[in-house]
Amino acid sequence: MISNNKMSNFFECSQCGDCCSGQGGTYVDEKKIKEIADFLNITQDQLKKDYLCRSSSGRYMIACGNDGKCIFFKKNCSIHPVKPRMCREWPFIPAVIKVPENWDQMAEVCPGIKKQTCISDLKKFTLEYLKTTRSHAELAELEKTAN
Ligand code: SF4
Ligand code: SF4
Repeated sequence: MISNNKMSNFFECSQCGDCCSGQGGTYVDEKKIKEIADFLNITQDQLKKDYLCRSSSGRYMIACGNDGKCIFFKKNCSIHPVKPRMCREWPFIPAVIKVPENWDQMAEVCPGIKKQTCISDLKKFTLEYLKTTRSHAELAELEKTAN
């Protein structure tokens, strides 16, 4: 169980929506495509046609709407229960464990991030947080990097 108190030492989302802006490379695999399509009660083909686009390497990613934000952003995330892993993890992403100095840079684009936090506490918290999204094998790899 993750303590909100502890999270608030590092991050408190201001709901500004900035992280949902632009073509952010929010990739989705076939499993996630099915989950989102089921959530929206549409077919996977419909989802691909109306809500996804392809990266230069051919991978599916969530499209950007006319307002410059993720097509699923409507005041907040309209697919919150099934949103992609990278959206669920932000800002406690693996890169924070690999290169903790990323944290203060990330704060430049995310006003919820509290700068100049204790790096070792941040790494510990991020590892704990990622237990909700990552496999045992991935966590084991990250733990090696963290030490
Ligand atoms: S940019 Fe940061 S503070 Fe703004 S909505 Fe996204 S996570 Fe929250
Ligand atoms: S899927 Fe949701 S959380 Fe992720 S970028 Fe789109 S609106 Fe934001």
